[in-house]
Amino acid sequence: MSARPDDELVFLPLGGSNEIGMNFNCYGYGPADDRKWIIVDVGVTFGDQTTPGVDIILPDPAFMEQHAEDILGIVLTHAHEDHIGAMGWLWPRLRAPIYATAFTAFLLREKMRERGCLDEADITEVPLGGAVTIGPFEVGLITLTHSIPEPNGLSIKTPLGTVLHTGDWKIDPDPILGAVTDQDAIRRLGDEGVLAMVCDSTNVFVDGEAGSEADVRERMNALVATLKGRVAIACFASNVARMHTAIHAAQANGRQVCLVGRSMLRMAAAAASVGLFKDVAPFVTEQVAAGLPHDQVLYLCTGSQGEPRAALARIADGAHPHVRLGPGDHCVFSSRVIPGNEVPIRNLQNRLADRGVRLYTDRDHPGIHVSGHPCRDELKTMYQWVRPRIAIPTHGERRHLLEHVALARDMQVAETVAPRNGDMVRLAPGRAEIIDEAPSGRLYVDGGMLTTEDGEALRERRHMAHSGVLSVCVVLDGHGRIASGPQVRGVGLPSEEDYPLGEMLDDLARIAEETVQRLGGRDREDDELVEQALMRSIKKASQRLWGRRPIVEATVLRV
Ligand SMILES: [Zn+2]
Ligand SMILES: [Zn+2]
Repeated sequence: MSARPDDELVFLPLGGSNEIGMNFNCYGYGPADDRKWIIVDVGVTFGDQTTPGVDIILPDPAFMEQHAEDILGIVLTHAHEDHIGAMGWLWPRLRAPIYATAFTAFLLREKMRERGCLDEADITEVPLGGAVTIGPFEVGLITLTHSIPEPNGLSIKTPLGTVLHTGDWKIDPDPILGAVTDQDAIRRLGDEGVLAMVCDSTNVFVDGEAGSEADVRERMNALVATLKGRVAIACFASNVARMHTAIHAAQANGRQVCLVGRSMLRMAAAAASVGLFKDVAPFVTEQVAAGLPHDQVLYLCTGSQGEPRAALARIADGAHPHVRLGPGDHCVFSSRVIPGNEVPIRNLQNRLADRGVRLYTDRDHPGIHVSGHPCRDELKTMYQWVRPRIAIPTHGERRHLLEHVALARDMQVAETVAPRNGDMVRLAPGRAEIIDEAPSGRLYVDGGMLTTEDGEALRERRHMAHSGVLSVCVVLDGHGRIASGPQVRGVGLPSEEDYPLGEMLDDLARIAEETVQRLGGRDREDDELVEQALMRSIKKASQRLWGRRPIVEATVLRV
């Protein structure tokens, strides 16, 4: 297939550019009015204190939804949540065939099943190193190393040139599980000529190399060998090699392994499904582990990020039904602190320490964790192998992307573009540049619903959390005379004992009454007008009496 004169190749990130998380990348090919698309990864990001009640956030797919009939395929690079987590929610809006390797497909199916869309989805398992032609895109999988089984880079060949979409990667010479980085395939691609490389920026500020899982194994074995009492290791369940290392350390030191936490069991099943846990002794249940001598057990726990409902938090609170840790026991954090989780992790560690548990982190025991993303030396090596004409950093916050641009320039890359979500970058023909802006944004998973980020709900929730709620209700008759009330109620207010001027709610009720009385007879016949006047006066009075302006709800009832 050769390019027609008005064909263009474009790259459009709708998530994951200017943030670490929520990856959603689109490649379009064809004339501007008739592009065919493939989507690479459909991931989530996680809520924080600024999104009360919302734990999961998705990229807004509105733009691609408009072009749903032109989406030829969705290719998933690997099974991390920030790459596949949104599939169950968003696939029904995109409805394109899905391509993934076996391990990723195993976890994907679970997600789709949970959301009730598995039966409709067309999932093709592509072998590692395999290739698939999707319309004008010839997509080849390149085996990389990362912190989860089966991480793939994608070579995306089109009549206008080849893109290497790296996905998440590092160069681990001994990843323990799975193959090493397929250097030959990458170099070959570089020799054939790569138009653009869209590349992981997570560790662009870190010098040197990320380090190998094999080094972690050595350190972990050595550490566990010195420990008496019960040992718990906390790590990301998706890091199956790390799980394997913990299991190895247990076996080498006469301990039996007990998996604690749902995602540990889920990942162990996924790993077993692709034959990764063949040499592993059977795990023991929590009940059996509880009866073992303390120095014969090793718990592998979820919750390294201080997640309040995860296994480790429950253990730290003494609330786990079967797992107890106390004086003489040890907890090893084989994980990094994800930015934003510093406080919950510190709280978790304080609670464990308070029980007498000794803690080990990569701060005091360097080498018990390594990152899954490329540091500067690995990035440089990749640029030497690939020699792209255009560098497009992704998978990073603004500062990461801009630093990555500087690094790419140092590596003699001729053109660089650091896009923001929604920037449509033309890769060919001509110089790479941003040619259009597509709508982009976030969707919140709010209970069982999806809401847009510009909705009122979260703004109101933050306001409520800060200043509480007052509600005032008054019953008026047909002539606007007060028949009952006003009654003022509050949520999240200082208590009666805290309030030196008497009962604040009584004061506010009196003020509400005066507000109604002050309105003219005509005005009092208008419910909305009365409600507005009440909201204003109660807000103002609250500011004067209490020093805060809570959310005020006013209701007028008629008899
Ligand atoms: Zn990622
Ligand atoms: Zn990843």
